[in-house]
Amino acid sequence: MTFDPETATFLIAGPVRIHPRVLRAMSMSSVNHRGDYFHGVVQEIRELLPVLFGTKGHQVVLTGSGTAGLEAVYSGLLRHGQRTLVLTNGNFGERTDAIARRYSDPVTTLSAPWGQHLPIEAAAAELAKGDVRAVCVVLNETSVGLQNDLAGLASHVKKSGALFLVDGISAVAGVPCPIDAWGLDAVIAGSQKGLAAPPGLAMVHLSERARTELAPGTFYLDLTEHLKSIAANDTPWTPAVPLFLALREALVLLKEEGLEGRIARTHRLAEATRAACDAIGLELFPDRRYASDTVTAIRNPQGMDDSQVRKVLVDRYNVAVQGGQGSVKGKIFRIGHMGIADWPDILVTFAALERILAKAGKLPKPGASLTAIGERIP
Ligand code: PLP
Repeated sequence: MTFDPETATFLIAGPVRIHPRVLRAMSMSSVNHRGDYFHGVVQEIRELLPVLFGTKGHQVVLTGSGTAGLEAVYSGLLRHGQRTLVLTNGNFGERTDAIARRYSDPVTTLSAPWGQHLPIEAAAAELAKGDVRAVCVVLNETSVGLQNDLAGLASHVKKSGALFLVDGISAVAGVPCPIDAWGLDAVIAGSQKGLAAPPGLAMVHLSERARTELAPGTFYLDLTEHLKSIAANDTPWTPAVPLFLALREALVLLKEEGLEGRIARTHRLAEATRAACDAIGLELFPDRRYASDTVTAIRNPQGMDDSQVRKVLVDRYNVAVQGGQGSVKGKIFRIGHMGIADWPDILVTFAALERILAKAGKLPKPGASLTAIGERIP
């Protein structure tokens, strides 16, 4: 069997598998993006965005991938001449740092080793100096499968009066992101992760304070313009119409399941994935206490590399998982279990993984991972 995208077991760390309802919604001939039909689509999306973010606020959809959302927020809210604090512990934290440096100086970067939790105490010490304008962090560090706990950081940010800007691209609709309780001023979501829509849209939530502090940053991604337009069920420039149609259906699906329901289901799948790894001696990469519920990062089995695991999974079993990136490329692989991923997906993936390990003579207890998953199916 070779890779067939239409039938694959598809568990990369996003984009994720797309529901047929969302695919059908997208396959429509052109509609006038300034006509009544499309205004109706944008209106529905505007009304459904609080389902995605779990709260109301100033919320927009940008044509562009998650990074466009990051750039929109940082270009609009960071300032040259005012200090930004960035915390990193993986590839996307480093990306945040790179974007922040385009729009702010000085930038103070506090880094934990990849896979370890963000350095909260060091951040608290920086914040206590009282001159930080904004704190930028990644909630779920997709590159290392680590879910940062922002509850502790939130109280320090609040005390300091800094803006709290969060990359929630692989977190939103997958792990808890209590925007109001943590006092988040901006959260960026990506269409291709927990929401299970196609890639290419970024959703941004802003607090009232963030809205009032927006400055014109980039032209295309000027959030003030986007907010003005969405209030009139419109977009400032020609939007990616098929993606908006898909987004509307993906939001309806999310509403049907409920945000809490999707987060709880994602958690159950993550627990089962971790248990399956334990059962066959696969080692998690990140600090286990903070293992992500949307992406499990696993060390390559000793003596085996990507070509023996990932390539065989895809070529022989039509199962797609993802490799490592940056400094962990070739050292780990990642299983995404967010969006509409479900029990059959992880069962097939571990059945195939077991075959590969068995053939390499590295499977101590055949069937153990499948039993571990099976025991967790409600
Ligand atoms: N931030 C995080 C946490 C991500 O997981 C990703 C993509 O995987 C990005 C940023 C970049 O998003 P995009 O590739 O949609 O621009």
